Amino acid sequence: MGFNGVDHLIENKLEGGLHSGKLIQALLKKVQGLGVQVLTGISVNGYTKIKNKILVDTSYAPIQTRQLLLCTNAFTKELIPGIDIVTNRGQVLITNPIKNLKIKGTFHFDKGYYYFRNLGSRLLLGGARNSAFEQENTLEMDITAGIQEKLEKFIHEYLLPDISFYITDRWSGIMAMGTEKLPIVQELDDNIFCCVRMSGMGVALAPVAAQEAAQLIRSALKKIR
Ligand SMILES: Cc1cc2nc3c(=O)[nH]c(=O)nc-3n(C[C@H](O)[C@H](O)[C@H](O)COP(=O)(O)OP(=O)(O)OC[C@H]3O[C@@H](n4cnc5c(N)ncnc54)[C@H](O)[C@@H]3O)c2cc1C
Repeated sequence: MGFNGVDHLIENKLEGGLHSGKLIQALLKKVQGLGVQVLTGISVNGYTKIKNKILVDTSYAPIQTRQLLLCTNAFTKELIPGIDIVTNRGQVLITNPIKNLKIKGTFHFDKGYYYFRNLGSRLLLGGARNSAFEQENTLEMDITAGIQEKLEKFIHEYLLPDISFYITDRWSGIMAMGTEKLPIVQELDDNIFCCVRMSGMGVALAPVAAQEAAQLIRSALKKIR
């Protein structure tokens, strides 16, 4: 694959890569087709239980509901202060399209602190959080020069040693870790649920975690009826 200084690779045939933008588009299309109303650009400030109803305080208008499921992952601490969640930022960059890019697939390096993959003929790389643990323990969706430089150096040294490239985009996202790896899928109070703390694996875990959450909600709904 054109790597430099790499002696061994271990193949895992069970791992796959998907286009997360296309995933979100397909998911939106599916749920909207089922009649789910999706509201964006609104912050939830908190919620209050009033008898058997829940009043959700939002930046737009209050919303009343019988059941509430929080899927706010790393941002849940703002709504449930005591929850066992530690926020971890992941910084990412992507190169320009590279002619005859040899790297195909998804790859992990350094205990998983580095992750790279091809996206068509571009190379996407994220990680280096282990070089600045405390700094990356944040909810700020920024990038920093230190980590971005480490990522670029990694590409130059190991991935595309003799190939010229440039970085077209840089961004970050926030992951939710905790004292254990399993997601928190539970009823917090009568008819108030959460499905959070995806441990940086939420794309892979979501189908199962979501099924568990749906089951919890359905059984609680039966009690209301
Ligand atoms: C760099 C990086 C690489 C990753 N790589 C992988 C990978 O290879 N495989 C994998 O499986 N997972 C990966 N993940 C993890 C995966 O992206 C997450 O686990 C997943 O996105 C979690 O989905 P979610 O919907 O639970 O939370 P999020 O995607 O964080 O969505 C939560 C949403 O809630 C909104 N929100 C939060 N608080 C409020 C509020 N008070 N009011 C209104 N809205 C609110 C946020 O704006 C956000 O839209 C990666 C994450 C990062 C950052």
